[in-house]
Amino acid sequence: MKNKTPLRKKISYQTIKQLVDNLRRGDLKAEDILKYHLSQIKHNASLNAFITVFETQSIAKARNIDHRVEKGEKTGDLRGLVVAVKDNINIANELTTCASKALTNYRSPYNATVIERLIAKDAVLIGKTNMDEFGMGSSNENSFFSACRNPYDPVCVPGGSSGGSAVAVAADMAQVSLGSDTGGSIRQPAAFTGLVGLKPSYGRVSRYGLVAYASSLDQIGILSKSVADTAYVFKIIAGYDVKDATSARVEVPDYEKYLNRNVADLRIGVPKEYFREGLDSEIKDRIYFIIGRLKSVGAKIVNLSLPHSEYGIAAYYIIATAEASSNLARYDGIKYGFRNRAAHDLVDSYKSTRAEGFGDEVKRRIMLGTYVLSSGYYEAYYRKAQQVRRLIKEDYDKVFKDVDCILTPTTPTTAFAIGEKTQDPLAMYLSDIYTVNANLAGIAAINIPVGKDSSGLPIGLQIMSPAFREENLFWLGDYIEREGIE
Ligand code: GLN
Repeated sequence: MKNKTPLRKKISYQTIKQLVDNLRRGDLKAEDILKYHLSQIKHNASLNAFITVFETQSIAKARNIDHRVEKGEKTGDLRGLVVAVKDNINIANELTTCASKALTNYRSPYNATVIERLIAKDAVLIGKTNMDEFGMGSSNENSFFSACRNPYDPVCVPGGSSGGSAVAVAADMAQVSLGSDTGGSIRQPAAFTGLVGLKPSYGRVSRYGLVAYASSLDQIGILSKSVADTAYVFKIIAGYDVKDATSARVEVPDYEKYLNRNVADLRIGVPKEYFREGLDSEIKDRIYFIIGRLKSVGAKIVNLSLPHSEYGIAAYYIIATAEASSNLARYDGIKYGFRNRAAHDLVDSYKSTRAEGFGDEVKRRIMLGTYVLSSGYYEAYYRKAQQVRRLIKEDYDKVFKDVDCILTPTTPTTAFAIGEKTQDPLAMYLSDIYTVNANLAGIAAINIPVGKDSSGLPIGLQIMSPAFREENLFWLGDYIEREGIE
């Protein structure tokens, strides 16, 4: 990773909260901070983390913040914070490509609600990040704009689908980033690049302006360098939004109250299904070591079972593809996006536009999804998958009566090599084995970095909490991070 002296060291701040305080006092300049990140983007161009960089707009915004601070005007709680945004979240007048040829020329006419909230607090948006096409993938290799590379070892994938958002933060090209997580797309790349990655409860963050992949599973979340940073930004983007019918009217607590606590009162569940064959032994040892440490400081460790976990991948890849086949029907080249101009009639236009506009994995998913919804197969596949989803959710409802959170590995392996799984979709799907269940159940989950394996690649630990109890994730995650259980 080509890192100049990391900004946090250079200008001595630990958290985003300290950073924005320094900016408010005028001890730091938003423009200097932004320029450092822009230079990191240039230095690390070979990692291919960005699809679009907002150089002029971001410099203008940073200068505007500095100017207002100088004049003693009020500025928002994210003043000068440099944020990278996954390219499936709409920013008005900018490209939203979803890393698909189908949307290479699509400019959004409006801001997603999360973007409105960040801008209202004076965040500086630095650009749009690379991803797997429409969020479909676990390695960022399914991008029309080419693969993205892992800063810890550029022959490895950064994970996906929010690969660019992870690399942007890991290589100091932004302070935080937004990603989306349908089956693990924030947590898995966070695990592969040593970051904190939060998938909020379904309904916690507005999806208005997020391009839909599988609407009953999608959530926008945050990738950052610490739990404190995540909590700080989360309280700004979380909460009810009238523009998203699935957003929940549940009050947003003061998450920062849950930082800097001890864990003696916490009841932590450890599900046996998450430690079976297929789990890399170094990851397993690391997680068990941490569980041992938590026990030694008084946390109550509860061994438990989530018996339907093993059906998660099968149910997920039926439900997600079914919803995708319907959501992606809109890309016909007529209303917006790429169109094959050589087509000779309407039907040919639809066919050739979609044949050229979508990559192989997206086509595979549309075919699978159409199949499982088709008459004669609906009962056997889609309906069955929905029933399994319910059983998975009930497993969680049951165990969350006894525990505050659940601790597992985030991924079965650390980052794998580019090309290693591209010929074997099933192997690729299995890399989501520990993450998809949280989406199916609608609960919250976070990745916490917990050291490196013997090749120097980051290891991730996952914490899950009941829906709308993200504070439990911050409580335990912050403790593990502070204690440096690495
Ligand atoms: N890897 C999973 C998939 O390909 C999850 C993707 C995501 O969360 N967007 O569907």
